[in-house]
Amino acid sequence: MVLIMEKGFTRLKNYLKELNEGILRANKPLRFGLGFLRVSELIQQLYCELKLHYTYSQGVEPEYKRRYIIRKMLDIYLNAEKKAKATNGNFYVKLPLIAPIREIPVIGSPDAIFFERYNPKIILRIRKSRSLKIYPEDEARGLIYGALLEKLGFKINDLKYVIIIAKDLEGLLELIPSISKSIVKREGISIKEKHNVRIAVRVYNSKEAEELINYLLSYWEMLREPRPNPSKSKCYLCKYSRICPYSSLESR
Ligand code: SF4
Repeated sequence: MVLIMEKGFTRLKNYLKELNEGILRANKPLRFGLGFLRVSELIQQLYCELKLHYTYSQGVEPEYKRRYIIRKMLDIYLNAEKKAKATNGNFYVKLPLIAPIREIPVIGSPDAIFFERYNPKIILRIRKSRSLKIYPEDEARGLIYGALLEKLGFKINDLKYVIIIAKDLEGLLELIPSISKSIVKREGISIKEKHNVRIAVRVYNSKEAEELINYLLSYWEMLREPRPNPSKSKCYLCKYSRICPYSSLESR
C-alpha cells in the first residue's frame, strides 16, 4: 500500500519539477503554441469552446506567467507531502495534480482531496451558489482530476468525486473532513439546516473520463474546429456575440 502511495506522490513531484524546468512538454504541436494545458482551460471548453478560441486567438497568457503558477503549485505540493507524512496518509488537502494525457501535460488543483492510507478516496468540488445548481463543468472537474490521479498511478478503484454547493460556506468548510469520512464509510451526513447545502456523490468512472478528455484534447491537438455552445444567458455576457455566427442573441 505504501508503495502505491510512493509511486503516485513521487511521480507527481517529478512531473511538477520537470514542468517547472521546461523538460516536460507536449510531445506534439498544440493550438496557440502551448506546451501544457490547465484543467481550467478544459473546463472553459465546456462552457463555450468557441468563446475560449476567440479569446486565445487574441493572444495567450505569456509563458513566464504560466511558469509562476507551476512554482506556486510546487510549494503547495511540498506542504501537502509534509501533511501526508505527519498523518500517515490519512489527510485532507489541496493538492496540485499533473500528468501527461495523450502526451500532453495537464495540470490543475481540485478544491481538496481526501486521502485514507495514502489512497485518494474523494475529490471535492466546493462552491457557493444561491441556486444550488450543479453544472456540467462541476461534473467534468471530478472526471478530469480522477483521470490525473489514475495516470499518476494512484489506486482509484474506490474513488468518488463529491460536489458540495452551499448558499453559505461559513462554518461549513471545517465540516468537510468529517463529511468526507462519512461518505467513505457510507454513513448518513448530518449538516445543520442553516447551511442550506446540496451534496452530490459520484463514483469515478475511468471510461467516462477518457471519453470526455479525448473529446476536449482533440480541439487542442487541432484535430477538429472549436464548437460553439450558445445559450441566451452565455451569449448575452459574451464580448464576441457581435462577431459570432452562432450567437443566440437576436440583434447581433
Ligand atoms: S456568442 Fe455565444 S456561442 Fe458565440 S462565442 Fe459567445 S458564448 Fe459562444
